[in-house]
Amino acid sequence: MSMRELVVLGTASQAPTRQRNHNGYVLRWDDEVILFDPGEGSQRQLLHTTVTATDLTRICVTHFHGDHCLGLPGTIQRLSLDRVAHPVAVHFPAGGAEYFARLRYATSFYETAELRVEPIEADGQRIALSCGTLEARRLRHPIETYGYRLVEPDGHRMLPEKLAAYGIAGPAVGELIRVGHLDLDGRRVTRDKVSVPRPGQRFAFVMDTGLCDGLYALAEHADLLVIESTFLESEAALAAEVGHLTAAQAARVATESGVRRLVLTHFSQRYPDPRRFHDEARAHFDGELIVAEDLTTVQLPPRRVASAE
Ligand SMILES: [Zn+2]
Ligand SMILES: [Zn+2]
Repeated sequence: MSMRELVVLGTASQAPTRQRNHNGYVLRWDDEVILFDPGEGSQRQLLHTTVTATDLTRICVTHFHGDHCLGLPGTIQRLSLDRVAHPVAVHFPAGGAEYFARLRYATSFYETAELRVEPIEADGQRIALSCGTLEARRLRHPIETYGYRLVEPDGHRMLPEKLAAYGIAGPAVGELIRVGHLDLDGRRVTRDKVSVPRPGQRFAFVMDTGLCDGLYALAEHADLLVIESTFLESEAALAAEVGHLTAAQAARVATESGVRRLVLTHFSQRYPDPRRFHDEARAHFDGELIVAEDLTTVQLPPRRVASAE
């Protein structure tokens, strides 16, 4: 079975604390291993997990504030040090290309790894992956910022006993999936007769932002939503002013968007007690709620059950 999980490297905004490293997240999703927003120290945090730099296939940066990208120089140099043989794609806001260029070549190093630099040029840009579509949406923050979501298309799960009953086997199964029907001795067997719908899964990654359309578009029906929750309600006015969310706002977005598993992160260092994020969010969201801790792993929830037609 393919592995789909989030590995949390760090959960602090702006300034790390003794308990929290700067941001950093890895999504394992089939053959993709995507590093999101590597803050300072991400390379070392990786050592405490089962993910290695060599596993990475892709890096996504939401924006060029330090807590989301100061880990790029170390991580990029590590790819070369380890002589990673496959190309690694890198996505970031195109307006920050100058920052990326500096971080990429922050110091002298012997470059062996191949980076495929593919900046996000526009809201709604989509990147086709073998396991689904990666989509970037513009967020509301003082500098150009994009959140990301990975959407797996809906599919079909073939039922072996039904296939056997019709005597369908081998390459005919592939043809049935592709074409949608198969003609057997003058009798047509449609795909629906031998399969059940398999809803695609969705992962969304939303960092620094105030409430905006892009945020809702990313969160829509996410099986797993990772979202910034920098502040508590006592700082709601400040949050709005500086383009951030409170735990309660993040939870309301999750409820309104039909999110299943909610991961809050990117906490301000001013709050020593993480239970307060849980309590404020819980008042607005009934689903599975996780206040992220460094070096923990969050599984994607089991696939949704297809609704009866
Ligand atoms: Zn931040
Ligand atoms: Zn920021």
